[in-house]
Amino acid sequence: MQQKPDYRKELAETAQKICTPGKGILAADESQGTIGKKFVTINVENNEENRRAYRELLFTAPGVENYISGVILFSETVKHATKDGKNFVQLLQEKGIVAGIKVDKGLGVLPGTQDESATLGLDSLASMAAEHYKLGCRFAKWRAVLKIGNGLPSQQAIQENAWGLARYAAICQENGLVPIVEPEILADGDHSIEVCQKVTEKVLAAVFKALNENNIFLEGCLLKPNMVTPGSTNADRSKVTPQEIGYRTALALSRTVPPALVGVTFLSGGQSEEEASLNLNAMNQLTTVRKPWALTFSYGRALQNTAVKTWAGKQENWEVAQQALLTRAKANSEAQLGKYQGGQGGASNESLFVADYKY
Ligand code: 13P
Repeated sequence: MQQKPDYRKELAETAQKICTPGKGILAADESQGTIGKKFVTINVENNEENRRAYRELLFTAPGVENYISGVILFSETVKHATKDGKNFVQLLQEKGIVAGIKVDKGLGVLPGTQDESATLGLDSLASMAAEHYKLGCRFAKWRAVLKIGNGLPSQQAIQENAWGLARYAAICQENGLVPIVEPEILADGDHSIEVCQKVTEKVLAAVFKALNENNIFLEGCLLKPNMVTPGSTNADRSKVTPQEIGYRTALALSRTVPPALVGVTFLSGGQSEEEASLNLNAMNQLTTVRKPWALTFSYGRALQNTAVKTWAGKQENWEVAQQALLTRAKANSEAQLGKYQGGQGGASNESLFVADYKY
């Protein structure tokens, strides 16, 4: 059997680079269907050229590399280039930004459960990971989804998704890609923040057990969890402060995530742009919980919402839309350092929650 290269040194360096203080990840890996839903709201046709143009707007925003250390791409985008013909992966590399690739194939129903899901794509993952390493990508994302309510998540869904994430992580590491392990517990439901904390601890404990059983090199691995928040329809939702969200999230992590892990890159999960920045900031300011990992952002909606709306498919809005992205990127950069004052650039409090969100 051919000896596999040992990527550990490179994996550790990649993970550390992504977790550079004051930087985080721009998740721009919306599948064609998901980006289509954004485009409908701004009357832009969901065709390949518009998807390419929009991503060019994001990646060429001047100085974006001051706040963003990694960008997650959808497979179609990896092969796209700027109008001037520069391939996006190369463009990002030249800015010192690590390119990443979404490698999951979405969700399938998990038979024998109440409509819970498992993530698809393990069969073709090794070849996809190897191909994208050759194309210059150095990290990957795989999203698993769990739901709270009516006795869910079931033990079966927790185990299946933990194991799937660990298998994915092992395949990525064998092919030189840092795996972002994403067990997203959806915010859908009327559950309290205490319930979310309990479920988050259970899920993360199962995930790290499975990562261990699959010999994952944690120094070259990142976790992308939900923050601990009340459910989207919980009556007390508006009373819960960023300090409580930050505290309970850090507490859940401290109970379940080994210190060897380099960093935690949160998803925004339907929080408004401003909430996502304030919550991250509160967590980084917290001094009463042990936090041996970098705590940063890997936001999709909470970085892009104002930018995409401002663009609205019009060339004349290009630069203002780029500024909108930069405003949120800077806010989250400051939040990573625990220095965000709030209210940056007419900060948007619009909820970005979408029920049963698909990526
Ligand atoms: P949101 O920040 O929009 O939740 O998306 C991040 C992501 O990559 C989810 O898989």
